[in-house]
Amino acid sequence: MSPSEHVIIIGAGIGGLTAGLSLQRAGYRISVYEQAPEFGEIGAGIMLTPNATRVLLNLGLESGLMAKGDRPTASLYRKFDTAEIMQSTPLNDRVATYGAPQVHIHRADLHRTLLDAVAAYDPSCLHTSHVCERVEQTADGVRAVFANGTVAEGGVLIGCDGARSVVRATLFGRESPHFTGQVAWRGLVPAAGLPDTVSGPASTVWIGPDHHVVQYGVRHGTFVNFVAVARTKWEEEGWNIPANVSDLLSEFDGWHPDLRALLAATPAGTCFKWGLFDREPADVWTQGRITLLGDAAHPMLPLMAQGSAMAIEDGCVLARCLSDLPVEKALQRYEHMRAPRAGGIILRSRAAAGLYQNVRGDKSAERQAYVDSIYTYDATTVAV
Ligand SMILES: Cc1cc2nc3c(=O)[nH]c(=O)nc-3n(C[C@H](O)[C@H](O)[C@H](O)COP(=O)(O)OP(=O)(O)OC[C@H]3O[C@@H](n4cnc5c(N)ncnc54)[C@H](O)[C@@H]3O)c2cc1C
Repeated sequence: MSPSEHVIIIGAGIGGLTAGLSLQRAGYRISVYEQAPEFGEIGAGIMLTPNATRVLLNLGLESGLMAKGDRPTASLYRKFDTAEIMQSTPLNDRVATYGAPQVHIHRADLHRTLLDAVAAYDPSCLHTSHVCERVEQTADGVRAVFANGTVAEGGVLIGCDGARSVVRATLFGRESPHFTGQVAWRGLVPAAGLPDTVSGPASTVWIGPDHHVVQYGVRHGTFVNFVAVARTKWEEEGWNIPANVSDLLSEFDGWHPDLRALLAATPAGTCFKWGLFDREPADVWTQGRITLLGDAAHPMLPLMAQGSAMAIEDGCVLARCLSDLPVEKALQRYEHMRAPRAGGIILRSRAAAGLYQNVRGDKSAERQAYVDSIYTYDATTVAV
């Protein structure tokens, strides 16, 4: 694609900003349109697995990522009621295998790092309070129409507008993602005073029947982030609903006292829950000069911690394809490269319930094979 083409990005989440920065580094002019009145991310942590950090380091974000992120020493799996360690993998030993570290970071810190890097190229490319209503192909390009009456025109458009994507609905119809039968609670808890089992430098998955909890430190171990997931019913509208800690404790009745101490310490008003939705893997994300990226293309269960990682890989591969080929061929190539990878991980994330919410049998080898096969993918060098 010629560097004179202007790329329109809808949505300034982790996916939109990574794609934007990848394109800027490849020499393209971008404009990013975000619906919210301010740029930002939710107050929670995120696990960046080596397949994601490899891309972020390649984008020159090492200082931000390493200064703000935590490097867990090990990945532990504990039994829900006894806290027995069922599996332990020292993570520093795995850096050589994966070629990049695992980093846990507050989402706001990752988002700010990406935003600053994009703004350093061009502060005028970032626009808030732009709710995209529809997108259109024109004779020689693309157009996005916003609720505030503005219209943006360019040569390529990337829908990075999340699981309820308007760009996706415009291209392929308004079919909602479906409920997976799993509900998640999240909390960010000050680490001071918590038992060592839940506040140490390892990341831990607590495994129980039809339930699991992932917990790890962020902001240099001063906070513990948890995501507690249960197979249960979901009848509420919305994605980010304030939750009662007492309801959460009832759901995790019978779990180890140290884990319950973590859940119970969630500061008042900061525990949230939401139903987990995904889509069937799709082979087609693209029409002409418009494509999808991140959750807009492939929302998935968070059981393998791969949603953002897939969005980050998408951005890297998309920029590489656009650098090499004319626009429409490049978008086809991108889709061809990425749809099987992301679709495979949608299916693995569903199947992972059998590994993370099931205490029967020794699943260590299977769990390790799962993560090894995901983490070794290199979006920066994979043939495009
Ligand atoms: C409980 C849980 C834990 C998770 N943990 C991890 C993890 O540890 N590691 C990991 O890699 N992934 C994790 N994920 C997945 C990850 O959070 C998502 O996959 C990722 O945030 C998707 O990024 P995105 O940029 O594609 O979409 P989003 O983050 O949804 O961003 C979309 C952006 O588009 C904007 N937007 C939406 N509609 C419009 C519109 N019409 N016009 C303009 N702007 C619009 C939104 O405001 C938003 O800023 C987790 C998910 C859940 C639910």
